[in-house]
Amino acid sequence: MPIAGIYGPDDFGNPVHGHPAAQTRNRVSAVERARALPMPSLEWTPEVERATAHLYERVKNVISPVEWPFMAPYIKAINELKKTRDAVILAHNYQTPEIFHCVADIGGDSLQLAIEATKVKSDIIVQCGVHFMAETSKILNPHKTVLIPDSRAGCSLASSITGADVRLLRERFPGVPVVAYVNTSADVKAEVDICCTSSNAVQVVESLNAPTVIFLPDQYLAKYVASQTDVKIIAWKGACEVHERFTGDELRAYRDADPSVQIIAHPECPPDVLAEADFTGSTAHMINWVRNKHPKRVVMITECSMADNVQAELPDVEMVRPCNLCPHMKRITLPKILDSLIYLREEVTVDPMIAEKARRSVERMINLKN
Ligand code: SF4
Repeated sequence: MPIAGIYGPDDFGNPVHGHPAAQTRNRVSAVERARALPMPSLEWTPEVERATAHLYERVKNVISPVEWPFMAPYIKAINELKKTRDAVILAHNYQTPEIFHCVADIGGDSLQLAIEATKVKSDIIVQCGVHFMAETSKILNPHKTVLIPDSRAGCSLASSITGADVRLLRERFPGVPVVAYVNTSADVKAEVDICCTSSNAVQVVESLNAPTVIFLPDQYLAKYVASQTDVKIIAWKGACEVHERFTGDELRAYRDADPSVQIIAHPECPPDVLAEADFTGSTAHMINWVRNKHPKRVVMITECSMADNVQAELPDVEMVRPCNLCPHMKRITLPKILDSLIYLREEVTVDPMIAEKARRSVERMINLKN
């Protein structure tokens, strides 16, 4: 069914928001210095080459032998420090292959990471992803130390809406339940009824048994959900700055160049893009689709690093890579992960009152899955 309405901060006379976590933080604080471990050697030596050879095997299709000597010393140091610190590294599918395949303990989409975060035994979680993901880990693990290697790793969706906006939406649409995509701040999660990811958005909306649902903040995911259900959807004007750049013309050009090519797209893309795709699904669903169908050539219409990560796993599938990078995800690098483990920075905190309310929304989603 077509979308019932679409709202944004300007409809409430509010300014368009900046990212709440956006801040410059280059200096190591006195507390971080006090708990720091010694800086390991970062030289490329025969020992480093030997110790990382099995990891290079995983990524040799996507990382050249020329690049590896610059990455391997960091990878060895990070993997050793993880043990010293009793830390676990969670990495989103959009992290680069040297992070995703060589230092991460758990990789996946937002839902997988949210669920895995609840099972983590280590005292320290290093979140290789963006700030809202680290907040979600903290919400689900209030007694653990959650670190993000660069707290400026934001998200255009998360920064499009605040908790105050949700309260205004509730005033305008009294009694209408609110679903928030996990790409939102803790402040927003605390104000909604339930969270969802792109894997389970339709299921979550329908689970509410309501004729109308407010779905925020991604207008394109909202339109996709509306196309899959009879529930009336009221949307928010947010968009992912990576996925909204794709166009239907671009996809038609791929198909014109090779009519046999398979095109799979993420539901954060605009409707004219999804109309051209052979399959639409979350990052986890896209990866499973490629694993199961094993196409000869495929275009993955999503953030660029995911195609690299799948290519590393499936070298015989030819990836056509339209390279739309997420600048926020790319703030996370090997040197910053190493710093994070040495200095235990940058620690993510969430106000306990907000965390408790936000946890209810996230857990309601997780319990729905089980
Ligand atoms: S890819 Fe889009 S939705 Fe994901 S973190 Fe980047 S801006 Fe946010």
